[in-house]
Amino acid sequence: MAVAEFDLIRRYFAVHAPRHPFNQLGIGDDCALLNIPAGYQLAVTADTMVENVHFFADADPELLGHKLLAVNLSDLAAMGAEPFAVTLALTLPKVDETWLQAFSRGFINLARQHNVDLIGGDTTAGPLTLTVQAMGAVPQGRALLRSGAQVGDRIYVTGQLGNAGLGLKIKQGYACADPELALRCFNQPQPRVPEGLVLRGIANACIDISDGLSADLGHILEQSGVGACLQWDSLPLSASVKEFIDHSGDWRMPLTAGDDYELCFTAPVDCSQPIPVATCVGIIEAEPGLRISRAGRVDTFEGKGFEHFS
Ligand code: ADP
Ligand code: MG
Repeated sequence: MAVAEFDLIRRYFAVHAPRHPFNQLGIGDDCALLNIPAGYQLAVTADTMVENVHFFADADPELLGHKLLAVNLSDLAAMGAEPFAVTLALTLPKVDETWLQAFSRGFINLARQHNVDLIGGDTTAGPLTLTVQAMGAVPQGRALLRSGAQVGDRIYVTGQLGNAGLGLKIKQGYACADPELALRCFNQPQPRVPEGLVLRGIANACIDISDGLSADLGHILEQSGVGACLQWDSLPLSASVKEFIDHSGDWRMPLTAGDDYELCFTAPVDCSQPIPVATCVGIIEAEPGLRISRAGRVDTFEGKGFEHFS
């Protein structure tokens, strides 16, 4: 790597020495060094965002930096892992300091909010592609898996559904009377890290909603060998999403639109602890498949979430 490029990394990404006690050595050597205390497991995930696939070419770089990190922290939250370190692989068409300044601001600000250190990465030239690998810690054996749902569990979601999906429609030209919340959810999802930590003692299964509730709950159902019935009237929807459904008739949208990054989890009915800020939207059943109860009837739900290769 050219010296000028390492100067860029120093300027925008190596902004401070690692602070989290698990991170011994950060940016600057051939590798970072982590010390994971005994009794913890390391949870690792990676997510890539590609221009024109995951974001528009004119996307605000500060929001992009935020979202890139947020989607990775969301995966750790869904495992009940406490994030502490990330690496960042940047492929850039050119060195644009204004862009890098704003991108790193969005990224580093969210990292600080979650006590996460940027401990390394790679910088290359090519079509704009952004990859983060995120690492978290979870006490041995206590991670929240997709495979733990039990028949009779209640199904919960944090926050609201469909706001990010509505944000995308607004960007594509839908005229919304009150677009602020939807656009904020689309541009700046807040990873549900504290909720994931609380759910360690509560949830039997958990996943983050990146591809729409029906698709992501579908992963829990498949991996747990169960089915489910959702109550459409229980879905937590904002006024703007309700208005969109009234106008368009598209009641499937909050079930199939991606990018909400809320948590979907299942918990036993007789759960001893109070369920943290979440809404009960259905029940796990023995019969495989996903059903939806709406307008007095129960139907098999056929809607699919977003899939890259379909
Ligand atoms: P090497 O050639 O040994 O892979 P590099 O010259 O690519 O090392 O990187 C030098 C240091 O800068 C390493 O510690 C690496 O982890 C870090 N680094 C490179 N690119 C980034 C980036 N985009 N964000 C954070 N750290 C980075
Ligand atoms: Mg390298």
